[in-house]
Amino acid sequence: MITLLAAFALAFCPTDDDKASKQAEIYAEAVDKLNAAHARNPKGTEAELAAKLPAKAAKALDKLIALEDSPGLLEGLVYVAEKALELDRIEDFNRAKERLARSEFREYDLGAAITRPRFQLRGRGVDEDYLEHFSEVFQAVLEGYDEVFGFEEFSKVPGKKLRVRIHLEEKIERPPHFAPQFEYHSEIDFPIVNADELVSPTSDGKFLFYGLCHELGHVIAMWGDRANEEDKHVWAHYTGVVVCEYVAEKHKKSRFMKGIRDERWRSYEAFEKEFEDVPPNTTSREGISALFRALHEEVGPKAIGDAINYLDEKDVRRRINKVRYYTFRELEDGLLETLKKKKRKKLVKNLFAGGT
Ligand SMILES: [Zn+2]
Repeated sequence: MITLLAAFALAFCPTDDDKASKQAEIYAEAVDKLNAAHARNPKGTEAELAAKLPAKAAKALDKLIALEDSPGLLEGLVYVAEKALELDRIEDFNRAKERLARSEFREYDLGAAITRPRFQLRGRGVDEDYLEHFSEVFQAVLEGYDEVFGFEEFSKVPGKKLRVRIHLEEKIERPPHFAPQFEYHSEIDFPIVNADELVSPTSDGKFLFYGLCHELGHVIAMWGDRANEEDKHVWAHYTGVVVCEYVAEKHKKSRFMKGIRDERWRSYEAFEKEFEDVPPNTTSREGISALFRALHEEVGPKAIGDAINYLDEKDVRRRINKVRYYTFRELEDGLLETLKKKKRKKLVKNLFAGGT
C-alpha cells in the first residue's frame, strides 16, 4: 500500500494549473464559509466579517499571485477576484487585478470595484473615477431614503453591504433591476450608456436615476409571495418617485446631479395628482397607488418606515431566498402598533378597509 501511494505521489507532479486552482479553491472556500456562517447568524458589519479571513486563505492568495503565468493562473485570479468581492475584500480584488495586468493575460478586463461603508460598486466598462461619481449619487439616494422614510434594513442579510453592478452597454435592453438571486447580499443590476457621468433620462428616454430609487424600494420590501406580487410594483414606484424628487431638490446644486433630470417626469407631485380622486384599496394598481398616496398624506412616510422597521424587528413575515416579503395586512398591523394617536389609527383602519 505504501509503495502504491509513493508511486502515485511520484507520478502526480502538480502542474502550475493544478497549483493555481488549489490556491484559488482554498481562498474561495474560506469566503463561502464566512458568508454562510454570517447568514445563519448575522452579527456585525461586513468589514468586521472580512477581517476574519483566515491566514491560510490570505496565504493562498499570496501563493497564487506568486505563480508563473499559465491558463490556470488566469482562471484562478478571475475566480479569486470575484470571491474577494463577495466578502468586500477590495484589496484582494485589486491584487488579483494587478497580477493579471502584469501577466500575458493583461487584455482580460476584470473591471473596477470600490467600497463604501454601506455599499460596494462594481463596474464593467467604466473606471474607478466613474464609480466614485456614482457613489456620490448612490449615497445621496440612500440618505434620501433615511431622511424621508428611515428604514433600518436594506440588505436582505443584515450587515452585508448593498451591491450595485454597473455595466456599460451600447443600448439598454433591460433597465435597472433588483437581482435577488445572490445568496449573501442584495444587488442592483445597473446598465448605463455613458461612461463619463450618470445621464438620466438617457437620450432614448430611460430613467436610470429614478430606476435606482425604484429598485431600492424593491430591495427594501417585496409584497405578497412568489406567485403573487401583491403591490403590483406600486410600492417601488411610490418610494421611487418620493426619493427621486427629494434627492433632486436637496442636491440640485451638487456637481454629481448635473446629468440628472428625472424629477421632471418622475415626481411625487405627478403621482399625487394622478391618484387624487381614486378611492384606496389593496387589490387594484390604482387603488394601491391611492392607498400609498393617502398614507403619505395622512400619516407620513416616517410612519410607513416605522411600521416596516417594527415588522423587521419581529422578523416573522415571509422570506423568500432571504428577501423580505410583506403583506398589506402586516403593514396595517405595523402601522397600528407604531402609531400613537387614536385618530390616526382609526384613519389607517378605514384606509385599509377599502380592500378585501
Ligand atoms: Zn418595479
